[in-house]
Amino acid sequence: MRANPISPTVDFDKDGVQHGHLRLPYSRNDSAWGSVMIPLTVVKNGSGPTALLTGANHGDEYEGPLALFDLAARLGAEEIYGRVIIIPAMNHPAFMAGTRVSPIDQVNMNRAFPGVPDGTATQKIADYFQRTLLPMADVVLDFHSGGKTLDFLPFAASHILEDAEQHARCRAARDAFNAPFSVEMREIDALGMYDDAAEGQGKTFVTTELGGQGSATPYTTEIARKGVRNLLIHAGILNGEPEVGPTRHLSQPDDACFHFTAEGGLVEFLISLGDTVRVGEPIARIWDMRQTGRTPITVTAQRDGLLMARHHPGICQAGDCLAVLAVED
Ligand code: ZN
Repeated sequence: MRANPISPTVDFDKDGVQHGHLRLPYSRNDSAWGSVMIPLTVVKNGSGPTALLTGANHGDEYEGPLALFDLAARLGAEEIYGRVIIIPAMNHPAFMAGTRVSPIDQVNMNRAFPGVPDGTATQKIADYFQRTLLPMADVVLDFHSGGKTLDFLPFAASHILEDAEQHARCRAARDAFNAPFSVEMREIDALGMYDDAAEGQGKTFVTTELGGQGSATPYTTEIARKGVRNLLIHAGILNGEPEVGPTRHLSQPDDACFHFTAEGGLVEFLISLGDTVRVGEPIARIWDMRQTGRTPITVTAQRDGLLMARHHPGICQAGDCLAVLAVED
C-alpha cells in the first residue's frame, strides 16, 4: 500500500501540549503547492492509554467542534496520564464550508473508510485515520449531530458487536459519557463508516448524536463538553470525578425503526422528539406543495416506539429519512 501524503506538524511521542496541524498537500488553481491544514492538539504525559477525539466528521455538526476546541485550549498535560489527540474538525474542508460532505470532492467522510492513500482529499484523510491515528488509540470518540437535515434527541451510542468483551467495553464507555440518552444504535448505511473502522481495530468506540438543525444550543454543547471529560476520566486518562446525571437507555430492535418517505412535500410533524407512538399511529403528514385541495399523505408508525430523530427542515424530498423510532429499555 502507498504511503499516506499527510504529515503532522506535531510529535505524537513528545510529552506536553502541542497545537499543530495535519498537513495534506492539495494542489489547486489558487495554490499550486497548497495544503489542507487540519488543526489538532496532542496532550501527553507518560505512557498511559491514548484517546482519539474527533468532531466535524460531517462539516455541519457543531457540538463536537465546540467541545473539542474548548478542551484543546484548556487541557494541561499535568491533568492527564497517557495521551489525548484532539481533532475538532476531522473533515476540515467540509467544516470550513459548513457542509456535510467535502466541497473538494463531494465525499462523505463517514462513508470513505478505510480510505485511499492516493485517492481524493477525503479518502486520503480517511486513510490517515485508518492506518496512522486509529492504531495509536485505545479509546475513540467521534462526535456527530444531525447537521442541517436531521434533528436528534441528545444521545451517546454504541453498536452491537460480535466480540462480547468489546461490546461491553463500548457500552460502558458510552454510558460513562452520560448523555441524557444512551443508545444501542442500528446503522442503516454502515458501509465505509469510521465507526466500523475503529470497532474493526478492536477499539473502545463511542459516537454521539447531540441535536441538529445545523446549529448547537447551550444545552447540547454542555452535554458534549461534560461527556468528553467523563469519558476521559472513565478511560483513566483524566484526573477528577465524573459529572453524572440521569440517562435513559434506548435500543433499535429492527429496520422498522426507520421511516423513509416515498413522496416529497411540505412536512407537518404530528409528534415531537421524545414522544411515543404505537404501530399504525400517525407521525407526520406531507402536503402537496403545488396544488390546493389535495389530501396530505400520512406517514404512520411501522412499530411502537419513541421518536429519536426527525427530518429537518420543513420540506422533504422523496427518499428522505423522515422519522426514526427507538424503544426504551
Ligand atoms: Zn454526522
